[in-house]
Amino acid sequence: MDAGLKRELEAKVYAGERLTREDGIALYESDDLTWLGRLAHHKRTEDNGDRVMFNVNRHLNLTNVCSASCAYCSFQRKPGEKDAYTMRVDEAVRKAKEMEDEQLTELHIVNGLHPTLPWRYYPKVLRELKAALPKVKLKAFTATEVQWFEKISGLSADEILDELMDAGLESLTGGGAEIFDWEVRQHIVDHACHWEDWSRIHRLAHSKGMKTPSTMLYGHIEEPRHRVDHVLRLRELQDETGGFLVFIPLRYQHDFVDSADGKVRNRIQARTTMASPAESLKTFAVSRLLFDNVPHVKCFWVMHGLSVAQLSLNFGVDDLDGSVVEYKITHDADSYGTPNTMHRDDLLHLIWDAGFRPVERNTRYEVVREYDAAPTLAERRAEPQQVWA
Ligand code: SF4
Repeated sequence: MDAGLKRELEAKVYAGERLTREDGIALYESDDLTWLGRLAHHKRTEDNGDRVMFNVNRHLNLTNVCSASCAYCSFQRKPGEKDAYTMRVDEAVRKAKEMEDEQLTELHIVNGLHPTLPWRYYPKVLRELKAALPKVKLKAFTATEVQWFEKISGLSADEILDELMDAGLESLTGGGAEIFDWEVRQHIVDHACHWEDWSRIHRLAHSKGMKTPSTMLYGHIEEPRHRVDHVLRLRELQDETGGFLVFIPLRYQHDFVDSADGKVRNRIQARTTMASPAESLKTFAVSRLLFDNVPHVKCFWVMHGLSVAQLSLNFGVDDLDGSVVEYKITHDADSYGTPNTMHRDDLLHLIWDAGFRPVERNTRYEVVREYDAAPTLAERRAEPQQVWA
């Protein structure tokens, strides 16, 4: 990048000025990762100091049966396929209860768009989960699922959200966003929920007092300009509603080995390469810099591995998800040795080792528990260090 432009961007960031679309594209064109990290770290430190938030949650996928066949998805199964499953309500509750000892504060529930499950199943599951685990917050359903519920119930999103909230819904999840630009979206997304509906449903949720996360699936067929466009659409919506708490860049995954049947379901795998760790760090940094109105940027370590998760804390990230005991959607597409279990202590050490102060949060990003600041490097080096995969 031209030195003059670099100085200009740097000055804007340090003055707290809003970056433009062109600025975002220019930042993606820079290969000076250290510089990008420094800028993003400045912004992250201004907003969140040395804190790294995490929550203790469990991911629950009620069904993997889905009417859609999104090109990047290795999770969905068709009815009757060998390992297609749908949990009964009591099974879902039993699975959630298994985690009680972990002192979880949140259940994160996303599912396929099941062709025949009735709408009433979904609020019933929430009600039973809430009754079984009253202290646990329920973060459930993507905007895509809410739009699906409109279709199968004949109700409006307004009525659906009211009923789900009455059943215990605390927050929607941020999924279904992928890349909003139609130029890309038409090739990867196979359901009917696009920017207009996704934003309509999150806007509605925010108007009801809900806070929600936002996401972006990157590293497939999109270009940096599509990532910038995606963030700017969300930034504009955030200006309007203030309802997004966090932005989560999700790295698109190849499924070299499908855990169940050896099939490759990911239809764009042959013509894509996954984002490298450097590209992921750049994406975290640019997202942090563009998103001046969303308080947190999250690294979902399951998709990045723990080393990149640690490094991401110096590239704008201040939130790690979470103490996950099982996560099917990603793990069906993972052959990189990422562990499928992280407990609270593992996460604390991962954060301290990177030189940050862990803070446990709940679904609304309220503090559950503050921990000590990181020991000094000299103190940390006095003990054998854990090597993160
Ligand atoms: S991404 Fe979601 S909607 Fe698309 S095929 Fe997979 S489970 Fe279905």
